[in-house]
Amino acid sequence: MDTLTKSNRSKLMSSIRSANTGPEKVVRSLLFKMGYRYRLHAKQLPGKPDIALARYRTAIFVHGCFWHGCTNCDRGTRVPKTNREKWLEKINSNRERDRRVQLQLSENGWNVLVVWACELSELEKLREKLQQALKTVA
Ligand SMILES: [Zn+2]
Repeated sequence: MDTLTKSNRSKLMSSIRSANTGPEKVVRSLLFKMGYRYRLHAKQLPGKPDIALARYRTAIFVHGCFWHGCTNCDRGTRVPKTNREKWLEKINSNRERDRRVQLQLSENGWNVLVVWACELSELEKLREKLQQALKTVA
C-alpha cells in the first residue's frame, strides 16, 4: 500500500504542515458531532491527511485558502506584490503536492475530500458536503 519512493517520502516529510490549526479543529468537531470517528495525520497514508476515516476509506484535507491556492474565494488569489514570484512558486508547489498526494490516495482506494478554510463560514453547507461525501461510500 505504501508506494512512496524514498525521495518522495522525504519531500513529503519536509513539507510544511500546520497541524492542529483552527480550521482543522472546526472540521473535526463537526464530524465528531455528526457521529463520525477518525484518526488524525495518519502517518502511513500519503500526505498524512488531516483527518482519516478508515471505515469510510475517506481522507480529508483541510486547506488554507492562501497556501493551497483556493479558487473559490479571493484569498487564494490575493498574493502580496512583494516577492510575488516566490509566493506563487510556493503556492504552486503546494498545489502540485496536493495533486500528487490525492492521486496516490485514490490509487490506494481512498476517497479524498478537500475542505477549504473559506467553507467554514457556512457550517451548515459544509455539514451537508461531509454528510454527502460519506454517505456515498458507506
Ligand atoms: Zn477559499
